[in-house]
Amino acid sequence: MSYQNAHNDASTRPGMGATILIVEDEPAIATAIAQRLTSEGWRTEVARDGLSGVEAANRIKPDVVVLDVMLPGIDGLEVCRRIQAENPVPVLMLTARDDETDMLIGLGVGADDYMTKPFSMRELVARLKALLRRVDRAAQASNTSGADALITVGDVVIDRAQRRVHRGEEEIHLTPTEFELLVMLASSPKTVQTREHLLAEVWDWVDASGTRTVDSHIKALRRKLGADLIRTVHGVGYAFEPPAQ
Ligand code: CA
Repeated sequence: MSYQNAHNDASTRPGMGATILIVEDEPAIATAIAQRLTSEGWRTEVARDGLSGVEAANRIKPDVVVLDVMLPGIDGLEVCRRIQAENPVPVLMLTARDDETDMLIGLGVGADDYMTKPFSMRELVARLKALLRRVDRAAQASNTSGADALITVGDVVIDRAQRRVHRGEEEIHLTPTEFELLVMLASSPKTVQTREHLLAEVWDWVDASGTRTVDSHIKALRRKLGADLIRTVHGVGYAFEPPAQ
């Protein structure tokens, strides 16, 4: 098969041939995930502890990381921080309980999505496909050139081509999902966008069961960009409203 054919396959099936790093210390779970993801046409590598996970992420530059929270050595939170510090990559975090998910969201760890064990492999695959579509979309956005690439609202400048964000003189480093969410909000300033709408547009979710994932990323954006940019409309959603200059 020629390179051209391989490229066409990739464009008709988003995420086809992607590399997924699985960081999970329970062998049965790690093996089951790896087998399922391989059968979906993805390349997989398994790391069995936190430090190996960070090392593997730096070495293989995965398209997505599936990351268990409870790991020997350094835990998933620290792994997520170290991976994101080196190279922004989407992270889907596996948690043991719903309240653990809430705790992580509160901490704003920088994961793109969360799943609580036990989960179905079908659901995991669906979430990973959504993450990979986001990566594809981000790559397309970075082909945007010229004036279209720049969004300027107040003192916030978003460069979609370079995928860089500045507030005033300061450059703000965002994860891929935080960046997508900010672009969605800033593209329609002073407009309230519902959590369900943001979830559908940014995460490709069709149901509303993940709206707290939106909340966690809003928290992260506020922590990084300042608390005064995004207004909460209680019970509805969020609006991007920088203070008047
Ligand atoms: Ca574990």
